Amino acid sequence: MQSLTITNEQLNTMIAHVDSQLPLEACGLLAGRGSRVESVIEVTNRAQSPVRYVMDPIEQLKAFEWIDSQGLELLGIFHSHPTGPETISPTDIADSAYLVVHVVLSRMHGEWRARAFWIEDEGHREVPLEVSNQG
Ligand SMILES: [Zn+2]
Repeated sequence: MQSLTITNEQLNTMIAHVDSQLPLEACGLLAGRGSRVESVIEVTNRAQSPVRYVMDPIEQLKAFEWIDSQGLELLGIFHSHPTGPETISPTDIADSAYLVVHVVLSRMHGEWRARAFWIEDEGHREVPLEVSNQG
């Protein structure tokens, strides 16, 4: 699925999580059906770095099992860029292991912004991230 629809509440959940981890990068998973996100799952950044993230493998595995048990699919991965940029980085592209939408939450002048990207064949392009008021 090369676009994502999230609710305002889900966006706020992601922002609250990445904001709480400042100045470190933070990360998590987005599960749902089709292109519609139904659940935001926070995952510990094992790298504990302001410029990198590595998902805690145990938490990630548990999340994958939970997603399966709920009959949901992994639709996206989100992580933060506490000091920018707004776009996906070469490291993100090199480390990308799943064909899912990558949401980058970047912070510029104290405000978080969310953009979504699709990584493929060592390249990337921006994809629609729709924020709905429902849900
Ligand atoms: Zn990144």
